[in-house]
Amino acid sequence: MIDSMKDAIRILLLGPPGSGKGTQAAMLSEKFGIPHISAGDLLREEVAKKSATGRNVEAMMNAGKLIPSEIVTEMVRQRLSKNDCSRGFILDGFPRNTEQREMLGVKFDVAVSLELEDTLAIARLSGRRQCLDCGKIYSGDAAECECGGKLYQRKDDKPAAMRERLKIFHRDTRPLIDFYRKEGTLKTVDASKGVDIVFAAICRSIQ
Ligand SMILES: [Zn+2]
Repeated sequence: MIDSMKDAIRILLLGPPGSGKGTQAAMLSEKFGIPHISAGDLLREEVAKKSATGRNVEAMMNAGKLIPSEIVTEMVRQRLSKNDCSRGFILDGFPRNTEQREMLGVKFDVAVSLELEDTLAIARLSGRRQCLDCGKIYSGDAAECECGGKLYQRKDDKPAAMRERLKIFHRDTRPLIDFYRKEGTLKTVDASKGVDIVFAAICRSIQ
């Protein structure tokens, strides 16, 4: 699909928290030269700008709430309208439910579902730390980011919040996965393996 390069390749990465979507999206972005668009990053950028929307989003994030679909969809839509998306993009973590899929109205060339059992997702997330300054995520026990920023455990990576996120994932994202399966664009990849093995499997699935 990519070799023939019709005009663009639009990739959606789906998977539960802890499935490595962000890491894989960044690797795909580098390999194929198309932007990695993370709804989470767009939200964090908006928070950093301290706009009215950003302050609103920050309060909801701090309370561990999901951001309303209208807000996220609008941010993603604006990002997708930029020139660097003309040859395609990798959407990471959005849409995450049927409502958002319908609101966004983007037809993907391939939807990759990173499959991971809840027990593994929880084990991975419980060791996860994020840089306060640049947002980079670490899975080991590093004390400091490569940028010098402090690492902290995200509020949404704490056990109760994690179980809630997985519950929401199963409730909301499974119907989405079923939709792409029926549409014929779904590929599934076992995300329990190492980063490079998962990456190779994704690349095979989209070529
Ligand atoms: Zn950093």
